This record gives sequence, structure tokens and C-alpha cells, in this order.
Amino acid sequence: MSPEQRVIADLRELAARTGTPDGAQRLAWGPVWREAREWFRGKVAELGLTVETDPAGNNWVTLAGDSPKTVIVGSHLDSVPNGGWLDGALGVMAALEALRMHVGARPPVTLKLVDFADEEGARFGRSLLGSGAAAGVLNIDDVRDLKDRQGTRLADALAENGVTLDRMLDAHPSLKAIDARAYLELHIEQGPVLESINKSTGVVLGTFGVERHMLRFTGQAAHSGSTPIPMRRDAFLAAAQTALECREIATRHSKPGAGVVCTVGVVNVEPKIVTAVPGVCEISLDQRALDPAVLSVMVRDARAASERAAADNHVNVEWRKLWQIDPRPFDRRLVQLCEEAVREETGDAPRLPSGPLHDAAEMAPLMPVVMMFAYSSNGLSHCKEENTPPEHLEKTIRAFLRLVEKTVAHVATS
Ligand SMILES: [Zn+2]
Repeated sequence: MSPEQRVIADLRELAARTGTPDGAQRLAWGPVWREAREWFRGKVAELGLTVETDPAGNNWVTLAGDSPKTVIVGSHLDSVPNGGWLDGALGVMAALEALRMHVGARPPVTLKLVDFADEEGARFGRSLLGSGAAAGVLNIDDVRDLKDRQGTRLADALAENGVTLDRMLDAHPSLKAIDARAYLELHIEQGPVLESINKSTGVVLGTFGVERHMLRFTGQAAHSGSTPIPMRRDAFLAAAQTALECREIATRHSKPGAGVVCTVGVVNVEPKIVTAVPGVCEISLDQRALDPAVLSVMVRDARAASERAAADNHVNVEWRKLWQIDPRPFDRRLVQLCEEAVREETGDAPRLPSGPLHDAAEMAPLMPVVMMFAYSSNGLSHCKEENTPPEHLEKTIRAFLRLVEKTVAHVATS
């Protein structure tokens, strides 16, 4: 069996063991996820290697090389409920294959595989939990009171898995102790870009920065029959006008290969009566870009647009920040190596940013990082329909294994 076929066979086996007809069921900290990790432990044992768990619940496998300089390859085994067969698992199985290729002949540098715990945040709402702890940026007090839908506390779910909430950050010094020279992650794109250009594989330039705000427009509720339109203070119309202008702002700042996005995902109107002019309207605004300068201009433009729309409709607007993360551009040299690997395997090397966050984003401040994306059928992910057609998947796995080899050679000589 070829390496890429072996990766696909492992993925199919995992899907059969931990999925249902509705999709993957490897919800972090739950029984099916533990079963997936147990199965994976067996795969690792077949190579004569062992799995070690850090204080944040991340699983590590080490293949010692001639040098302590280390190339880390990984992703995550957890999934959302009814998730896809490739999200996270593709990166972990490809990492396993990268180690398998070196078992028996000591590699020039040390190779480590990592399976980060709870990348998805699907149960407790905090994504990148394990990698955030390893990166030392998880604020334990922010997650202390999190509960799942059944009312189970995060701390209790962690304890069932041998993880102590208050000791999770101990994973950080153990990561810092590694002489890490590269972190490589293969992931399904989860979007429609590669499919739209019919390319198997993409070079990821970095993860988008995110600016997330709630905008509250306050006017005056009034009777819909008796209040002439010019005399209204309609908060919804101001919000709607802002939403349309934000789309224009995103379109204006999008360039080929450097797209940006914005989304109004929540709209709350008061008093929400068919016969009343809305007196209050709240909308969420989520803006994302890879270039920090572009992102800050987008926020500034959106703010100006909201103030204009408020003035036009005789209402007030207030902004409240929900969440923010800086863009994480990937390492220039590793992006180059990734381009070489993808071009050699597929004849072309399309570059694209990542809209979703990944564990790689948490590693980026600590070490050189690059990601590679696989074609995503219909751009779908986090659902049972998630897929990469076999010919695209095989090419992408080969390109990724090439990237690992190139990185090992690069790190060995630098
Ligand atoms: Zn993922």
C-alpha cells in the first residue's frame, strides 16, 4: 500500500469506528473521543512508539532523531457532533504516516506528532482549548464556569479524562522545553476556494485576524400607522444600512489572493411587533482579514458607516467589543517550502488565507508554522457531507509528506 493509501485507509477505519450514518461523533472529552484516541494509541504502538499526554490533555508521540531540533506535525482527533471524516483527523493520520516513514532509520532531527485536545470547542464553546493551554494563552478563569448542554462543568469533564483544569497551563513549559523549529498541519479547507479553481491542494498564508462587535442602534419605538416616515427614528433601518455598507467595505478591501470577509450573523429588534417602528436594533459584526492594517481600516470604515447610518435615521449607535484575535501570518520560509511541495505534486501552488482558526494559529507566535489545505467538496465541513475526492486527497497527502521531508532537511541544515 502506498503511504497516501495507508493514510486514507486509517481515516476510513477511524470513521467506521467513531462515526454513525450522521457523521463523526468524536466530541472532545466524551467516550467516543476517548475510543478514537485509544484506537490511535494502538496504531502508534504498532510503530513501537508511545503516546504521552501533557497536562492540557494533548497527546504527543516522539520519534527521536540525531538532533534535538524538532519538527512538530499534527492536528486534532476531536470532531463536532455529526462532523466530517477529515476535519482534524486528516492532519493526525498524515502526521502518523510522516513518523511511520522514518521508523527504523533514525531521522536527522526529532519528529513529534501532536493530537491537540478539544480544538473544536463544540461541547463547552471554547475552541483551541488544548493548543491554547500549550501556547500559554488560555485564561483559566475565562473557562472555569463553562458548562455543556447537560450542565456538566468543564472541570468535571476534564477530570474524567485525567486533566486538572488548574494545571492545564503546565502544558506550556513542556512545549517551551521542546527545541521546536517547525509546526506543520494538514487540514481540509472547509471552504469553496480550491474547488472553485479546481486545485487539489493549497498553501495557507496564515489565519485571519478577527474583530467581533455588537452594534446597538437606539431610536424611538412608535406606532407604524401614525408616524410619518420622515419623522421616524427607525433603529432597524440604520442597522440594515450599516450591514449593507459593511458588505461594500469587505468587497472594497478584497484583492485576489487576499480576500477579506464580514458577516452580520445576529439581528435583534425591539419591540418586535408588526405594528411598531423598531426602537432598538442590535446586530453582530464579524470582520476578518489576514493583513492587520487592512483589518483595522475595515473596522474604522465600519464604525464610520454605522455613524452615518445612525445620523441618516436619527438614531444613536454604540459599539461593544465581543472578541478579537490578531492575524497570524505563517512563516515565510515554510510557506516557500510548502509551495515547492505543492507545486511538485500538483503542478501549481495556489495560496490562500484561512478563515477558520486552527491549532496552527496558537503555535504561530511560538515557532515557524505553515499549513496545507485539501480540496473541500462543495466547500462543506462540520457535516457528514464533508469530503475530498480521492484523486485530490491522494495528491494532497503526497504533497504534505513531501513538505515534512523538505522541512526536516531544512531544519537539519539550519
Ligand atoms: Zn479542524
